[in-house]
Amino acid sequence: MSENLLKLYAEVTGNEVIDQLRQLSEHLRGMKIVHINSTKSGGGVAEILHRLIPLKQELGLDASWEVMTGSPSFFQCTKVMHNALQGNRVEMTGDLLREYEKINGENAQRLHDRLEEADIVVVHDPQPAALISHVPSRRGKWIWRCHIDASQPFRAVWKYLKGIVSHYDASIWSLSEFAQPLPHLQYLIAPSIDPLSRKNRALSVSELSAVREKWGLDPGRPIITQVSRFDQFKDPLGVLQAYRLVKEFLPIQLILAGGGASDDPEGEEVLDQVRKSAGDDPDIHILLLPSDDHLTINALQRISDIVVQKSTREGFGLTVTEAMWKSKPVIGGDTGGIRLQVINHHTGFLVNTPEGAALRIRYLLKNRKKLREMGEKAHQFVLENFLITRHLREYLTLMLAIMDASKDRIEVQ
Ligand code: UDP
Repeated sequence: MSENLLKLYAEVTGNEVIDQLRQLSEHLRGMKIVHINSTKSGGGVAEILHRLIPLKQELGLDASWEVMTGSPSFFQCTKVMHNALQGNRVEMTGDLLREYEKINGENAQRLHDRLEEADIVVVHDPQPAALISHVPSRRGKWIWRCHIDASQPFRAVWKYLKGIVSHYDASIWSLSEFAQPLPHLQYLIAPSIDPLSRKNRALSVSELSAVREKWGLDPGRPIITQVSRFDQFKDPLGVLQAYRLVKEFLPIQLILAGGGASDDPEGEEVLDQVRKSAGDDPDIHILLLPSDDHLTINALQRISDIVVQKSTREGFGLTVTEAMWKSKPVIGGDTGGIRLQVINHHTGFLVNTPEGAALRIRYLLKNRKKLREMGEKAHQFVLENFLITRHLREYLTLMLAIMDASKDRIEVQ
């Protein structure tokens, strides 16, 4: 990434935004910052880190990204934790927890020198949270970044995790409703998308037609899309139900595009249920894409009339941001981070049931002017609030604050 690329960002956001980033990063030059998560691809966290790390490096920070390695039972354990944080009553066995601690210990050993030396370590989600217990000689500040909707966690599992994350110097949450009482400073930072990435850059008409043709989509009929891992909380079965309700009246096509994440072992099971429910309807397109096929996701979002994200729990929902950036109104589950983005009746609609989703889909398909207006508002809302430049500014500000926690005011020249 070069200074020229920062200039490209300035073309999207204006110069002032980039100048602010340079000003803030002046004070952090050379600082060793390590981010750790549990998958290199698949899911929103990896998506963000792919872009955030090179940008931090470009601004002069010594930033790096490490990915945990684990066993199937480790990922089974962390998926149970994830589901528990999102409110499911789960069965967590002592064996799984022992595996969780063992794998964290092994990774801490592998990454020991970097973790010990770092000025700031940002640990994403529960998977690597217990690394901190294995680096007693750490000298930097450790921050736990929770991307999950933990507003109503299953208490037994949260109690266990709280015992671990209480040792961090700070935590970051996407929404205030998610934050849990912890004995350290807590910050709110919403995630973001990168407007210049392959996932979000503008596409040519021929690129869009190629994707339509490749997947056998009819350009003459409306397309409704949900892009998501096959996960129960993304409610793909609810989307299918909404599709069927609309299909009785309008000749729509449905795309459910998903792929796996290497830290999500439950995908196959949900995918099976989706396939059974979809049956042999030729207008339902279940697309399993490699996790790096960003251009296809980009094109699918762009050729859709409406994007749906009917989650019943959602930490943030980058798929919502991505669709809104492409001027699509989003019909989203009335939950978590979707509420931050879908401003009901303005940038899309919030829904609680398949019937509600169907009603809104029909309304928008019948009111094309409204559909376009909502899409334009959605794009503007993302431009002002959810681009990576805003995200980076908040990270840099947080780092300045946490490195000099004794000051209640930080002046940047
Ligand atoms: N994604 C993808 N391919 C897929 C499914 C999802 O590239 O088959 C991307 C999607 O475009 C988004 C991210 O993965 O950038 C999912 O992030 P989100 O916050 O919506 O959900 P999460 O998976 O983190 O719960």
